[in-house]
Amino acid sequence: MAQWLDAKVVSRTDWNDHLFSLRFSCENFPRFKAGQFTKVGVEQDDKILSRPYSLVSGPNDNELEIIAVPVEDGLLSPKLHTLQIGDCLKIMSPATGFLVLDEVPKSRDLWLMATGTGVGPFLSILATDEAWQSYDNIILVYGARYQHDLAYMPLIEDWLKRYSDRFHFVPIVSRENKDDALHGRIPTLLKTLSIQQHVGLDIHPSHSQVMLCGNPDMIEDATQTLIELGLAKHLRRSPGQISLERYW
Ligand SMILES: Cc1cc2nc3c(=O)[nH]c(=O)nc-3n(C[C@H](O)[C@H](O)[C@H](O)COP(=O)(O)OP(=O)(O)OC[C@H]3O[C@@H](n4cnc5c(N)ncnc54)[C@H](O)[C@@H]3O)c2cc1C
Repeated sequence: MAQWLDAKVVSRTDWNDHLFSLRFSCENFPRFKAGQFTKVGVEQDDKILSRPYSLVSGPNDNELEIIAVPVEDGLLSPKLHTLQIGDCLKIMSPATGFLVLDEVPKSRDLWLMATGTGVGPFLSILATDEAWQSYDNIILVYGARYQHDLAYMPLIEDWLKRYSDRFHFVPIVSRENKDDALHGRIPTLLKTLSIQQHVGLDIHPSHSQVMLCGNPDMIEDATQTLIELGLAKHLRRSPGQISLERYW
């Protein structure tokens, strides 16, 4: 049964002046699947103001973590941005959502494509042994406006060292030119095959599964491009290769 649990901020990471992660303790939070989200809220006027947030932490982590940005004129996210260690939160139990490996048909390659805070569920998935045991290649395509908006780089670099034969990372920035990142938007770079050439792997319905998360425009345009490459949206009743989660 869905219920609110009390949680307390145990740490926060400010990746820059707007992008931040909150880590919190929440006793008795039930085990979740990597890639799921839950509602995070604060008490206000005897009510709980809440929004869904994907869990960045893996299912074996004993604390929960989210990544967010304070949306201009947003009701909750600017409040979350001000929280400090020891502050209280409300967390909806249990977590839910279908952007999980259980829902993805088996394949040789797993492509995880995110913009901004949409990288969260993929970091949770990459924190599981299941992910590393299930695919020949895992490719994380991570788009942001500027290089300093790419969060969790130490963690990603750690996986690159640990799984150097299987893990490929494609950072993409849209508003500056950087030698170590592709420049542009994910859908365009898929269409021009730049991402595939950068990795040295093609995207083909016979051996690729793609998970998309984040900005709805990126998801819509990337889906269209992937359909042109021969892939189809994945539905339980009609298996395909594209699984997605829109944040708004
Ligand atoms: C399944 C799911 C998972 C989500 N996971 C995350 C997450 O892990 N991290 C996260 O930051 N957000 C996530 N979101 C979005 C989040 O729930 C809120 O919508 C967001 O934090 C804004 O809330 P707000 O109350 O401040 O803004 P509101 O007053 O509710 O205004 C909403 C508007 O904010 C904009 N917006 C929403 N999210 C973003 C964003 N991430 N970046 C830029 N603009 C945005 C959109 O224009 C949207 O219409 C998720 C949403 C869904 C549906």
